[in-house]
Amino acid sequence: MDLADRASRMSAQRRRWTAAAPIAVVPFGPVARRQLRLAARVLGRVFRAPTIITAEQPLPSSALSTRGQYDADLLLELLHRQLPERCLRVVGVTEADLYVVGRTFVFGYAHLTDGMAVYSTARLCEGFYGRPVDPSLLARRVLRTLAHEIGHTFGVPHCEGEACLMRSVSFVDTLDALPVRFCPGCRPRVEHGLGVAPWSARGRWERGMAWLRRRDFVRAALSFEHAVRSSPLESAYHHSLGVARLGLGDELGARQALARASELGGGRPAPTPAHDSTDAA
Ligand SMILES: [Zn+2]
Ligand SMILES: [Zn+2]
Repeated sequence: MDLADRASRMSAQRRRWTAAAPIAVVPFGPVARRQLRLAARVLGRVFRAPTIITAEQPLPSSALSTRGQYDADLLLELLHRQLPERCLRVVGVTEADLYVVGRTFVFGYAHLTDGMAVYSTARLCEGFYGRPVDPSLLARRVLRTLAHEIGHTFGVPHCEGEACLMRSVSFVDTLDALPVRFCPGCRPRVEHGLGVAPWSARGRWERGMAWLRRRDFVRAALSFEHAVRSSPLESAYHHSLGVARLGLGDELGARQALARASELGGGRPAPTPAHDSTDAA
């Protein structure tokens, strides 16, 4: 079964899914146009998401290791700063080889809460292993890697389910063996995440939490103010606004927001996404 068949079968299985906003694709360094078109096709068919392909970004020399690989964690942080306001997720693609601290390489890497993923085609190519180039196999590997990493960005960790795309992957043969479908446990989380528009109250709150984790209290407070205006009865949004204002040193504003949160329901945060961490493909 080729890529188109697998993707359309997956698409048919998820026909009611529609992404609330486009997914941005950022090429890091030179990336073949056919690879960018492939990424757009996978995102459209698997997640029913329109794609925005941005201008090529240089691979930062600060992320380059002595082994000639790039630190995927650093690339994710760059992507976080580049996530367009009205995009659902941002995914970087590169032909350079990637690693993270503690692993000699990764096919891809993603953030479980803040909306960024990155993947490399380097080790998806048969040529990397000294075997004849196989464009069809490469496309099948990109499908699995990209869909798996985007799955992580919806807060889905690795899954033990036999028939699930979110199974842990260590080597190219385990990647090839991944089923191209989400199991009934993982599917609802992906579906929910696809429906949260970045400009909705929940979307603004999630963006605010990402800034708060980076101690950028100005951007966090702005996002929470939007969330509070859109959904003024949600105590968690007032609570988060209070925390951000405390970070800004605005004690009066913080007290007002926290008091409002308390009136509305104790000021306990809404169920948070999965713990703030990253995960390799
Ligand atoms: Zn699963
Ligand atoms: Zn993974």
